[in-house]
Amino acid sequence: MTSQNIMSLEGVGMQFGPFHALSELSFEIKAGEVLGVAGPNGAGKSTLLNVCTGGLCPTSGKVLFDGREITGLPRHARCAQGIAMTFQIPTVISSLTVAENLLVGRSFGGSHQHDFDQIVEITGLGPVLDAEAGTVDLLARKTIMLGAALATGPRIVFMDEPLGGLNAEEIQDFVQIIDRARQAFGVTIVMVEHKIRALAEIADRILIINFGKFVCLDRPSVVLNDDHVVEIYLGK
Ligand code: ADP
Ligand code: MG
Repeated sequence: MTSQNIMSLEGVGMQFGPFHALSELSFEIKAGEVLGVAGPNGAGKSTLLNVCTGGLCPTSGKVLFDGREITGLPRHARCAQGIAMTFQIPTVISSLTVAENLLVGRSFGGSHQHDFDQIVEITGLGPVLDAEAGTVDLLARKTIMLGAALATGPRIVFMDEPLGGLNAEEIQDFVQIIDRARQAFGVTIVMVEHKIRALAEIADRILIINFGKFVCLDRPSVVLNDDHVVEIYLGK
């Protein structure tokens, strides 16, 4: 892993009317890392991902990608630059086949699209390529969504609660797929996950936010022993 930053947030705030969903958030994402993002329900995790991926334009502060400001760029323009996202509820096109869903990702990507066969290999979706995407199980639908995101040739993938709804065995499978994608493509992963202990096993660093504010950002072992983090998680 290099210590180069791929993305930076500088004093980012997101207000919905009078409500501050994010306040004065500043941190860096390192190229090649798996950055975990955790915090209680309503902490602002999904809002943060949307600010990074273009689903929302922050009401204050700046978002930089490769040192260039992208604060107001819409999602499709960020996608073309190598910024992808997967959603909490898998968004597959049910009436298309698994293979067609993966190919949809390609039509939105930039110039660094990945080889289809390599994505099939990494995701393990080979046996279900011709199935209708609406008929496969939750893990497969989550994997399709990641595969379609990878097909855009991203340098960074933001994942919103990817492990939600999966059982322990499926979590292990999906974590391995994510890890293979990271190794094959050198892609940076930012993963929001409410389950902080599962996150600690995957992430190089964990960012904790609460009430839209920065709490801490450090290695998992440090974060799990942080008094304030323990209070946030045990205090609910
Ligand atoms: P998390 O993903 O950490 O559970 P969210 O980012 O979804 O939290 O939401 C953070 C807070 O912002 C919540 O209180 C939520 O109700 C509020 N919020 C999120 N999106 C909107 C919106 N579009 N309009 C108004 N309030 C919103
Ligand atoms: Mg959320």
